[in-house]
Amino acid sequence: MSLKVTLLGTGVGIPQPGRSQAAILIENDLPLLLDCGAGTLLRLDQVGAGPEAIDTVVLSHLHLDHVHDLLALANGRYLSGLQGLSIFGPAGTREWFESLQAAYPNLERMESHVQELKAMDSFSIKGFDIFAEEALHSVTALAYRLEAEERVIVYSGDTEPSARVAALADGSDLLIHECSFPEPFDVTNHTTPLKLGNMLSNHDLKRVVLTHLYPQAEGHEDEMAQQVIELSGAPTIVGWDMMIMEI
Ligand SMILES: [Zn+2]
Ligand SMILES: [Zn+2]
Repeated sequence: MSLKVTLLGTGVGIPQPGRSQAAILIENDLPLLLDCGAGTLLRLDQVGAGPEAIDTVVLSHLHLDHVHDLLALANGRYLSGLQGLSIFGPAGTREWFESLQAAYPNLERMESHVQELKAMDSFSIKGFDIFAEEALHSVTALAYRLEAEERVIVYSGDTEPSARVAALADGSDLLIHECSFPEPFDVTNHTTPLKLGNMLSNHDLKRVVLTHLYPQAEGHEDEMAQQVIELSGAPTIVGWDMMIMEI
């Protein structure tokens, strides 16, 4: 059996046509949501998944473009008479979610469960074995390796090119890696194609999909993918919202 991966949101905090904020749906019979930026609830509805379908969310970090719609998802479940969410995320996730519950007391009445993770932690949920690794970002952030059905999917979250994330992705069937800006942008906390291509060289990657694109990337998508291919040798494409992959 294959895993179904839907890129719900491939954009960032700055609005742009066609790119909702960060979110990925992975289905292994049961659906698992990675990140939940603004627009995710609408994107889920577009793939036929209402609030009742999503009860577990794994967060890479707490920047708004990755968590904004978690509040909307929790509220949607509350209004639908459903149980609270299971939320996995980096250190600080519990305090952050408790502050939302304090602001919106109806959420407090739902029994949500928050589990904080650190690099090298592993856990199993929804049929996936998940391993967390440190990402290099401006706040505490995690990348994840998900294994199920003898398939491996790695999601970088937001990160500078990182040898640890590259090692995490070694041997994977799909690496979903952020590539925020085209060349020749020189940025910290995020990734550009040449640095990513260099980082991924000498790693065994069956497929790479670039996500988390800033508006500056518009019109440069093909050249960004080509630059990663030339340096890494890995088959690489730029992701778009609602792109579906069977892995
Ligand atoms: Zn971020
Ligand atoms: Zn981001």
